[in-house]
Amino acid sequence: MLVKTAEFVISAVKPAQYPEDALPEIALAGRSNVGKSSLINCLIRRKNLARTSSKPGKTQTINFYRINEALYFADVPGYGFAKVPKSVRAAWGKMMETYLSKRDWLKAVIQVVDLRHPPTNDDYNMYQYLKHYGIPTIVVATKADKISRGQWQKHLKVIREGLELQKGDSLIVFSSETGQGRDDVWSEITRLIEE
Ligand code: GDP
Repeated sequence: MLVKTAEFVISAVKPAQYPEDALPEIALAGRSNVGKSSLINCLIRRKNLARTSSKPGKTQTINFYRINEALYFADVPGYGFAKVPKSVRAAWGKMMETYLSKRDWLKAVIQVVDLRHPPTNDDYNMYQYLKHYGIPTIVVATKADKISRGQWQKHLKVIREGLELQKGDSLIVFSSETGQGRDDVWSEITRLIEE
C-alpha cells in the first residue's frame, strides 16, 4: 500500500476514547522490545511516528494511528515484562480482553515475534488468546537482518511449531532495518480488511 498519510490520533486510556469513525482496524501486539514500534514506522515509512521503546508500566494505553483515512493501526501495550507486579498484569489482561472481545472494527492482529528466538511462553499465550477470540492473525518474525538468510526457514519452523500456528494465519519474515517483508505484510493487511 502506498501510505500517503499516517497520523497519530490518540493514546487512549479507556474504551470511550477509542476512535469511532468505523474504519477497519489492525492491532499490533508483541513482547516489549521485540521491535513493534520499528515495524509500525517501517510499514508507514516514517522514521518516528510510533515511538520506539515505549515505557513499561503504560499498560493501559492503546495508541491509534490513522493511515490514508482508510484504516487504523492500534498499538497495544507490549507483554512479557519480567518485573511487573501482578496488579499491572491483571490490568493489562482486563484491557486486552475488553479490547479484543468488543472492538467491532478489529479485522486482524499482527503479532510480532523475534525471528532469532523460539517463541516465549508469553508469545504462545498471546497467540492462543487471539485464537480463542477467533481473531485472524499475521505473525511477523522481525529482526531477520540479524541472522543469515540461509537460517530463516529453520527459524520459521521453530516459530510455527512453538506457537502452534493455525491454518489460515500467515507467518512473514521481516526486518525494519532492510524493509524485508514490508510488501508481504501490506498484502495480508489489504486482504484481511477487504474480507
Ligand atoms: P518495541 O518495544 O517492541 O516497540 O521495540 P522497538 O521498535 O523500540 O525496538 C527495540 C530495539 O530493537 C531498538 O533498539 C530497535 O532499533 C531494534 N530493532 C527493531 N527492529 C529491528 C530490526 O528489524 N532489525 C534490527 N537489527 N534491529 C531492530
